[in-house]
Amino acid sequence: MTDHIDPSSDRLKQHFAQRVINQARQVLEVWQRLQRLDWNEARMLELREAAQLLQRYAERFEQAEHRQLAEGIGHCMQAVADNRGRLSSGVISELNLLMQRLARTGLRHGDRFEQTVLPPLRKPVYLALQHLERAERLAQQLEFFGMTAQPLDSANAFRAAMLERHPAAILMEVDFSGPGCGLQLAQSVQQGLEQKIPLLFYSHDDTDTPTRLAAVRAGGQEFFTGTLDASTLLERIEVLTHVAQYDPYRVLIIDDSRAQATHTERVLNGAGIVTRTLTEPIQAMAELAEFQPDLIILDMYMPNCTGTELAKVIRHNERYVSVPIIYLSAEDDLDKQLDAMSEGGDDFLTKPIKPRHLIATVRNRAARARNLKARMVRDSLTGLYNHTHTLQLLEDARYRAQRDGQPLSFAMLDIDFFKKVNDTYGHPMGDRVIKSLALFLKQRLRKSDHIGRYGGEEFAVVMPGTDAQTARQVLDGIRRRFAEIRYPAHPQDLSCTFSAGIAELRGDLDSKRLSQQADEALYRAKHGGRNRVELFGD
Ligand code: GH3
Ligand code: MG
Ligand code: MG
Repeated sequence: MTDHIDPSSDRLKQHFAQRVINQARQVLEVWQRLQRLDWNEARMLELREAAQLLQRYAERFEQAEHRQLAEGIGHCMQAVADNRGRLSSGVISELNLLMQRLARTGLRHGDRFEQTVLPPLRKPVYLALQHLERAERLAQQLEFFGMTAQPLDSANAFRAAMLERHPAAILMEVDFSGPGCGLQLAQSVQQGLEQKIPLLFYSHDDTDTPTRLAAVRAGGQEFFTGTLDASTLLERIEVLTHVAQYDPYRVLIIDDSRAQATHTERVLNGAGIVTRTLTEPIQAMAELAEFQPDLIILDMYMPNCTGTELAKVIRHNERYVSVPIIYLSAEDDLDKQLDAMSEGGDDFLTKPIKPRHLIATVRNRAARARNLKARMVRDSLTGLYNHTHTLQLLEDARYRAQRDGQPLSFAMLDIDFFKKVNDTYGHPMGDRVIKSLALFLKQRLRKSDHIGRYGGEEFAVVMPGTDAQTARQVLDGIRRRFAEIRYPAHPQDLSCTFSAGIAELRGDLDSKRLSQQADEALYRAKHGGRNRVELFGD
C-alpha cells in the first residue's frame, strides 16, 4: 500500500475486505454446524462451496492468507471426495487447524499480532436500552472486544432497524419505551421469524418471577439485572451465536483386532471425530500422554492383557482418572459387563453396534468429560486455567519445546494498584475488571497459548513457539489496549493497567526456574513504575 491513497478507493478496499471476512465467517459457521450434526453429503458440499466462494473473494481482493486457507480447505474437501466421501482423522485435524487459523485472520490492522482476534460477528448487536447514553457507552465497550453494537433510542427506531437488517442478537431492556413495553416489542418482532434471533433481556432492578416468566415466553434466552457488564454480555452473546471455537473430540481406540478398530474409526471419523488406534495395549500410557484423548474405547479381550486390567492401569494415573472408558465387545454376559464397569469403565457397548448409537454415546460422554474437566482445571470467576493446571501446562510445553527445539515464553501479569480499585469502587467492580482482563487475553492471544489465573489479580500465559521479543510485542499491544478501556463507575469512570514480566526458555532450564524468572521480570516492571512489560535478563 502506498501512503497516498485516494480515500474513496481506500474505503472501497475496506468494503471488499469486509466481504472476505464475512465469507470467512460463513465458512466457520458451516464448520461449526457440522460439529453438532451429521456430516452428510449435503453439508460437506455446503462447506466446500463456502470455501470456494471465500477463495474467489480472497483472490479478487488480494487477501493472501484467506486465499491460502480457503485453498487448503478445498484440498481437504477434495481428499474427502476422492476417498468416496469418507473422512479420515488426518483430514479432520487438518480442517480443524485451517478453521482455527481462519478464525484468527479476521481483523488485520496491519499489525501482525492483532490478527489473533476472532472475526467480528457479521452483524451488529442491537441495543435497546431505556437510556440512550448507557447504550452508547456499552456499544463503545463492546467495540473493544471486536463486537459492533447499534444503540437504538425508540421503539420505532428499533422496528425500522429490524426491517432493514436482522442483528446477530438483541439486548432489550424490559422497560424500553415504556414500562414492560420492551417485552412486548421483542416478542412482536420475533413473531413470524423463521429463525429466532438470540434475545437477551435486561432490567436495571431485580425483577419478580412474573416478569422473568414473561421474558422467557417472549423468547428471552438470558436475563441480566443490575449493572451491565460488557464482557459478561459479550461472553453470553458469543455462546448464543456459537462463535466459540470448537475442537473435534479425540478418541483413542485400543483393540488387538485391526479390522474391528478400523471399522470403529470409520464410523467415528464419519461424524467428525478424530481417532487413533492402538493394537498393542502395552503402549497405552505413552499414547495417552501424546494424544490426550477425550475418551477411550477399549476392547475387553486382548492377548497380552485384558481391557479391565488396562482400565485399572489407566485409572492409577491421576491425570486420567476422569477420561471416560467405554468397552466395546461382543461379550453379552451381563455379569461380566458389570464387573468390567466396576473396574473403571463408564459404559459397555456390545458388538455389533449401530453407528448412530456409537456416535451418540461417544459424543455425549466426551462432552460431559470435557465439561467436568473444564470445571476441575478452570477458575470459576474467569474460566481461565487455575494455578495448578497452568503449571502443568507450562511443564508440558517446556517438555515439547525442548524436544522440538522450539522457543517458549512464559509471562506473568499483575494488575496495577488493584487494591485501590477494590477500596474505591468495591469488590464486585474489582471482579469485573479481573473478568474483563481475562476475556481480553482470551480474545487477543493465540489459541495455542495457555492463559491461567495465577492468583487474585495475577495472570500467567504460556506461549509455545514464541520468543521473548515476540511475546513482549504481543503483550505490550494488549497492555496498551487494555489501558484504554473505561469502566463506567461513580464518582468517575475507572480504567486499569497491568504490568508483565516475561522469561524465555533457555537451555535445559526447568519450568520452576522459568516461572521464577518471569516473576523477577514482573517485579522489575512494578518497580520501574508499573504499566509496562519487562523481559527477564534485559
Ligand atoms: P501492585 O500494583 O503492586 O500490584 O498493587 P496491587 O494493589 O494491585 O497489589 P496487591 O497484591 O497489594 O493487592 C492485590 C489485591 O487484589 C488484594 C486483594 O484484596 C485483591 N484481590 C485478590 N483477589 C481478588 C478477587 O478475586 N476479586 C477482587 N475484587 N479482588 C481481589
Ligand atoms: Mg498482586
Ligand atoms: Mg497488583
